[in-house]
Amino acid sequence: MIKIIVPVKQVPETKSVKMDEATGTVIRQGVESIINPLDLYAIEAAIMLKEQYGGEITVVSMGPPQAEDAIREAIAMGADSGILVSDKAFAGSDTWATACILSEAIKRSGGYDLIICGERATDGDTGQVGPAIACRLNLPAATYINHIESVAGNECRLGRMVENGTEKLTMKLPGLITVVKEAGNPRLPTLRGKLKAKKQEIPVYNQEILQLDAGSIGLKGSPTRVVKIFKPKVGRECRMFQAADDKQLAGALDELMKFLEHKEPVCR
Ligand SMILES: Cc1cc2nc3c(=O)[nH]c(=O)nc-3n(C[C@H](O)[C@H](O)[C@H](O)COP(=O)(O)OP(=O)(O)OC[C@H]3O[C@@H](n4cnc5c(N)ncnc54)[C@H](O)[C@@H]3O)c2cc1C
Repeated sequence: MIKIIVPVKQVPETKSVKMDEATGTVIRQGVESIINPLDLYAIEAAIMLKEQYGGEITVVSMGPPQAEDAIREAIAMGADSGILVSDKAFAGSDTWATACILSEAIKRSGGYDLIICGERATDGDTGQVGPAIACRLNLPAATYINHIESVAGNECRLGRMVENGTEKLTMKLPGLITVVKEAGNPRLPTLRGKLKAKKQEIPVYNQEILQLDAGSIGLKGSPTRVVKIFKPKVGRECRMFQAADDKQLAGALDELMKFLEHKEPVCR
């Protein structure tokens, strides 16, 4: 029996991500939201472990009330329960404050052996929240996991994606991993799962329940700030190396090679 927590994030549908240039934050109003596609692999990895060893999967999502949809989708796939972490006081949190809030919610969720996060969220895209939760909960963490080989006693054997292959490692439990796509091909929700998800009660953990220090949540608890957001401007210059006949060709090529060797890429 293994108790698994899967933090999932609801993100704007990729094609419609828009940023507020004045505040540096993602515009979420009026934008279609989906479960972070990379979190589907974390859910799948958790379901495969549950099928092998038995246990329980709890999905935790921090976000506005509609993040409940992401939790229900995970339950429809095969998770057992979910917790929505939501409060206006949590708004403006950076990755460190997000991890602080999620950690407190996880602590109160009824125990865990393994926390499985996605590799990164497709909007914020930092990949920081998973390792930061481990840090906050004082847990060992292993990132880029592509294979969970076994879970036995208080440790699990893992495969970790590295540049030229897979690194094998053993991690003590309780612990946290972030998984990559190779960890499991996400299954589709079943009809039975959808019915269960529809009926399931999703508790909401707000600031009144979590009682977090006001200095560690929201903008106040965020040590980082988005100071500016901009699209990189890529400039192009055209220079011709001309050769009117074969005789001039070698000279032109020579000139071109010299130019390429010394030219810095143009990026403003
Ligand atoms: C400097 C800075 C300032 C920010 N300020 C604001 C702000 O003012 N307002 C605002 O709305 N956002 C803000 N954000 C965005 C906010 O911090 C992120 O949405 C959030 O911390 C998640 O980070 P990420 O998207 O990079 O997730 P990643 O670290 O890329 O996500 C990795 C994994 O962590 C888990 N995870 C991540 N987020 C959640 C979540 N919310 N619930 C459950 N699981 C989760 C998932 O398993 C996910 O796959 C800010 C971000 C930064 C870096």
